[in-house]
Amino acid sequence: MATATGAQLIARTLRDLGVTVIFGIVGIPVVEIAEEAINLGIRFVAFRNEQACSYAASVYGYMTGRPGVCLVVGGPGVLHALAGIGNATANNFPLIVLAGSAETSNVTKGSFQEMDAISFLTPHTKLAVRASTLDSIPGSVQNAYRTCWYGRPGPTYVDLPADIIQGNAPASLAVPPPEKILLPSPPRASGDPKMILKAVQLLKSAKAPLLVIGKGAAYARAEAGIRKLVEHTQVPFLPTPMGKGVIPDSHPLNASSARSAALKHSDVALVLGARLNWILHFGEPPKWSPKAKIIQVDICAEEIGRNAGTAELGIVGDIDLVVEQFQHALANWRYTPSPLSAGGQPFPVLLAESAKKNEAKAQKAALLKTPSSSPLTYQRAYHIIKSTLNTLTPPEAGDVVYVSEGANTMDISRSVFPLYHPRQRLDAGTYATMGVGLGYIIAAHEAFNASASPGTTLSAAAKPKKIIALEGDSAFGFSAMEIETMARYRIPALIFVMNNSGIYHGDSTSEDSWRSLQDQTIISDTKASSPAEEGKKGLRSTSLLYETRYEQLATMCGGKGYFARTEEELEKATRDGFLSDSVTVVNVVIDPGIGKKIGFAWQGNNNKQEAKL
Ligand code: ADP
Ligand code: MG
Repeated sequence: MATATGAQLIARTLRDLGVTVIFGIVGIPVVEIAEEAINLGIRFVAFRNEQACSYAASVYGYMTGRPGVCLVVGGPGVLHALAGIGNATANNFPLIVLAGSAETSNVTKGSFQEMDAISFLTPHTKLAVRASTLDSIPGSVQNAYRTCWYGRPGPTYVDLPADIIQGNAPASLAVPPPEKILLPSPPRASGDPKMILKAVQLLKSAKAPLLVIGKGAAYARAEAGIRKLVEHTQVPFLPTPMGKGVIPDSHPLNASSARSAALKHSDVALVLGARLNWILHFGEPPKWSPKAKIIQVDICAEEIGRNAGTAELGIVGDIDLVVEQFQHALANWRYTPSPLSAGGQPFPVLLAESAKKNEAKAQKAALLKTPSSSPLTYQRAYHIIKSTLNTLTPPEAGDVVYVSEGANTMDISRSVFPLYHPRQRLDAGTYATMGVGLGYIIAAHEAFNASASPGTTLSAAAKPKKIIALEGDSAFGFSAMEIETMARYRIPALIFVMNNSGIYHGDSTSEDSWRSLQDQTIISDTKASSPAEEGKKGLRSTSLLYETRYEQLATMCGGKGYFARTEEELEKATRDGFLSDSVTVVNVVIDPGIGKKIGFAWQGNNNKQEAKL
């Protein structure tokens, strides 16, 4: 008689749902699930910390449009994976977390890794369910998978008691019928036609219409329709940080370089898949005009009218379908700019002037050659990385997936590296989560290079992408051990650690340290120098050790490490790292920026604090 263990049933259910990769860390008893999954041909990517694997699974869902799957042990494993659950909630990424738990008969007795994860996670997930009998396994897993994916994406959780994982299922359950389990992609809704008409009237009457493109539009895979809409209407557009690439950054109507001017002057904004949260300054003055009418298009009705969103104009629906409706309704219209006020300039002219000014400023910093007595700046280092990459692959080919996290590291890189394709730039996101970078690299490798899920249209899946990460020295440290994961799975990522000796910037000890770094040999120097004893007095809460040889984390596991203090060293490291077939870490020693203002540029000047360091 055919029987199956709970672990086999779980693995089969996942396979029958179309899962091709699981991100996780095993221990007793979930190791059996992972092993059964591998036996069924599912890739299991084994991490070093549950935070990183839960982040990876969350963003994998965003990139592929299908839920990311994370498998961890109970108790502490679940606690660590809560990081990814929070990240998935904040970003609306589809994520299913499965975890082991105590034997049902031993609950409350102080069992191994015991925790009431259902009570704990219910407020933080769309659904938290325990498979408390063997025959409830397929249904629980399927429901959790469907729930995280359908509607507004988010995290769900399945609790798997040890006795269920290790139990033997009756013959009738041994082979779940796949046709009953394979789920179709989420159902999609069009917008209310009356609301589309209302929005169209308003757009037609606008003097400064603006399209705001968020990561919801990228997730909806609405790029073809949005590109057509922009081409046809000639309305300027502004992508959010992860909305970049839905329309190529090179497009003449891209208002990114004139972001402040675009937000300040727009009178009618059509917001496609972006919340009016901190990233868009709540849609409120002073960043936005108090008179702006903001038309939100979102899959989630509760989002409509939030903050400065114009509730009576909101459209609930799938962006791809709604954009198609807009295309039809605007078929005979094209934006004709006129002066914003008597004697004033038309909106596009204003945008162009502001962009020109901002781009000239950025260009100046990028072209400033580094004197031999000074460290590289962010702008100069990025310029060198970018121009070197341009000689290796044309940027419009989209052969690179960018991952970036940190404060300045992320802020400055956003405008330097242009995007031509959607979902190829991953950053700290809505939660500004530091520590996501290394997990995101692994997820990007899985999404683009290793295993396309069934039903996804990863146009360039056949051609491997180079994954390039720009990591702040602090951000990198959160999950640095995942370098070993990359080495183990032969993920040839190129990681730049922008080492400015601190969070935001370095401290008064950094200057001496920088001088001492000039004398170090490029080849890994095992006797790492220690900061001068008296220098420690200057340590601030933001300080990190400048002398840290981050690149050795790659060499310790067979990858390549580069120490880059000069333009020449950085150029060589970029070239070698791009061509390398193993993981590469480049320790880019940059200006510590002592005395610079602390700030996250995105939050606007209001929130910047003077650094008294
Ligand atoms: P950003 O960070 O780019 O500003 P957000 O994460 O704030 O983007 O917003 C994305 C929005 O997109 C969310 O409110 C989410 O509900 C919405 N969304 C996700 N998928 C779709 C879809 N297919 N159609 C419409 N809206 C979507
Ligand atoms: Mg730093």
